[in-house]
Amino acid sequence: MRQLPSRRQTSRRITHPAFSFQLPASSFQHPVSDPPWEPGYLRLHRSGELAERARGAGAALARCELCPRGCGVDRLNGGRGVCRGAADPVIASWNVHPWEEPPISGTRGSGTIFFSGCTGQCRFCQNYPISQFGYGNRVTVDRFAEMMLELQARGCHNINFVTPTHFVPQILAAVDAAAAQGLRIPLVYNTSGYETVPTLRLLEGLVDIWLPDAKYADDIVARRISGFPDYVAANQATLREIHRQVGDALILDTDGIARRGMIIRHLVLPAGLAGTAEVLHWIAQALSPRVHVSLMDQYFPAYKVLDDPVLGRKITAEEYAAALDAFAAAGLANGWMQEHDAACQLNAGRFEFCSG
Ligand code: SF4
Repeated sequence: MRQLPSRRQTSRRITHPAFSFQLPASSFQHPVSDPPWEPGYLRLHRSGELAERARGAGAALARCELCPRGCGVDRLNGGRGVCRGAADPVIASWNVHPWEEPPISGTRGSGTIFFSGCTGQCRFCQNYPISQFGYGNRVTVDRFAEMMLELQARGCHNINFVTPTHFVPQILAAVDAAAAQGLRIPLVYNTSGYETVPTLRLLEGLVDIWLPDAKYADDIVARRISGFPDYVAANQATLREIHRQVGDALILDTDGIARRGMIIRHLVLPAGLAGTAEVLHWIAQALSPRVHVSLMDQYFPAYKVLDDPVLGRKITAEEYAAALDAFAAAGLANGWMQEHDAACQLNAGRFEFCSG
């Protein structure tokens, strides 16, 4: 197993059946036990602020500007923007996910909830039936809340909202309902990193662990491959706002499970299309070299790029090694790598459908 380039000696290693990850000992903090830890959303629930945010955000769907696309459509009366989201949440699956980063999946798994639709249009999306074709089930907010409670009852370490941005108002309402019924595990927000600051502020104090992508360093590439207009500026504003909210530290419990913080994910693409070195350099310079980065090796061609001359292949060992070198050159100190040979194992087990 390769060492994750770091200026600090790695002293903590977690081995996973499909992946190997390393976390430098310098990168985590155990929470203080007095007062006892509780997820951020409980305070917002008790004060009534969560319900108030949910009401305001729900009403704003009459002119949706939840993401940087700013479609302005009336989702309460039949309008549909790029994401195709309406007023009710549409959920494609909710299940136990064992293969996120170790502080997220831990030993009992992360409780992932996959939303249907997406603000992006990645040509290589491995979840394209959900994100682009709209597979999923329309559910009520109460049923959505039950799903979270079911995942908690199954022992999941957290609730992990996957591709959630176009359903933020519904998330606010469902978390409020679930908190009233006993939800007590942390919330993870797993996103493309294409957000607006006002939407991120609706989630301030509610999301415990942020998992934003930093996908691209070049707007033209981002638009051509993933359909995002002006991705780089939006992504950098997103990462700055999340960093403002939670800072560098990744707070773990005594079992090494995340309770608060941010982990930036970067998927290395063939032929350097993701602009890996530039993305990592920006993170270290603009945010902090102590921010945690998950450098992902798991790209494989899917959806529209099966025969693409550039994107129609996995990355090579040399390309991933260059990404690791870029991590070190940027001065980043904390993060995770993936074993190059193991990538296909994760991909094979990542995607599930279920009925509502
Ligand atoms: S969330 Fe959907 S409808 Fe709203 S601005 Fe974004 S793409 Fe458009």
